[in-house]
Amino acid sequence: MGILEKIYDFSPVFFQNIMVSVSGYQRNSNRYGKEYYLHRKFLEEFDNWTLAQKMKFQNKQLINFIKYAYDNSPFYKKIYSNIDIDNIKTIEDFKRLPVVDKEMIRENINEVITIPKSDGIEEHTGGTTGKSLVVLGTVEDSMKRMAMLDHFKARVGFENNKMKRATFNGKHIVPPSQKGKAFWRYNRATKQMIYSSFHLTEENMKYYINSLNKFKPAAIDGFFMSMCDIANYIERHNLQLDFVPIAIFPTSETLTKSGRQLLERVFKCKVYDQYASSEGAPFVTECKYQKLHIELSTGVFEHIEEGNQEILVTSFSTHGTPLIRYKIGDAMDFDTLSQTCKCGVESPIVKSIQGRKLDFLYTADGAKINGGNVANLFKNIPNALVRAQTIQDKKDEIKIFLEVDKNLYKNEYDVLLKNEFLHKFGTNTNIIIEHVDNIPREKSGKFRLIKNNVEVG
Ligand SMILES: [Zn+2]
Repeated sequence: MGILEKIYDFSPVFFQNIMVSVSGYQRNSNRYGKEYYLHRKFLEEFDNWTLAQKMKFQNKQLINFIKYAYDNSPFYKKIYSNIDIDNIKTIEDFKRLPVVDKEMIRENINEVITIPKSDGIEEHTGGTTGKSLVVLGTVEDSMKRMAMLDHFKARVGFENNKMKRATFNGKHIVPPSQKGKAFWRYNRATKQMIYSSFHLTEENMKYYINSLNKFKPAAIDGFFMSMCDIANYIERHNLQLDFVPIAIFPTSETLTKSGRQLLERVFKCKVYDQYASSEGAPFVTECKYQKLHIELSTGVFEHIEEGNQEILVTSFSTHGTPLIRYKIGDAMDFDTLSQTCKCGVESPIVKSIQGRKLDFLYTADGAKINGGNVANLFKNIPNALVRAQTIQDKKDEIKIFLEVDKNLYKNEYDVLLKNEFLHKFGTNTNIIIEHVDNIPREKSGKFRLIKNNVEVG
């Protein structure tokens, strides 16, 4: 534990709020500089360009970026050594370049990065595979990414830094020794109330809701499942909210249809999804007509091969640690019909973003059931389920942990749920339901509906 953490843990809450704000102001200096404002302006103009103009721009950025990586990253220079870089002129040519994956980047990180450590900003990525990777980014790219994110929010009416937002994340803001019920801290630098995802238990929910009602955020962002937990509690207890946010912006976790409907019902506002990652993947953002747009100014998405929805990403905001044709481990369904969206922004549309590859369960004969489908199996037990988690250690057995509202839950729901699972997975699968007091979160503070421990292969 560092000295700052020690001071933080033993300080009163008001002083912790100051410390959170000071670190917020420090982060701001890497996020809201000249490049940020220039890029916001650019993105506003870019929205009005035609699709053809945007594709041309994307192509040019791509070629420049490949040249940059070749000239500045010893890793890319090596893996492109028998390719004539000057002959890469279109996105089709670009597909001749080799694919890189997380393990290659991690193993060779010192040859991949193009800037001295002291000049860069470190980003840590975890991910469901358990492999962690630390990438180094430039301040300029960090500002551009922030501008993209804020531009996406501004399109649907939320202006970051000017309006209040509530964030549910995995920051350890509540010291272990705390006795009081304040599970949030205020970051004045960005008008952000940070709520701890680690303390969202049934007993604590009322304190969170009181705080939200007092704070009245214009937007809620962060971990999707944490927001769902809150919404679920509000609905089960028929509580009143004293505010209506403009929007909800979940991050980090895969959205489920039922969870999304729950949030929209309870908070009476729309949920807008986005795809980005801490490694620095290009962006996909949802518009006010609920279409997922590829942000062509941020990079290139491709499918790894025809018929396989796993994606490769190339991101123009990864000058520090270039990612080119990077196998990020996610999957997307692109809409083949390029349709013009009612929002007026011309860009390719994504039909759906599938979660991390490992977010699925196996049937006994090895078929994969994805996370969205698994989440749907729980939706016929309304208002009685606090949280559920499915764990698979062998192909023919699924364990379901349930945290239920004991006043509302009926025993027959177990049978109902078991039948739903058997119907989907087949009677060869052994379904075990266990009731527990508390399903623990991951170390990151995220919650996982699915934990698949079966070896992939
Ligand atoms: Zn649109």
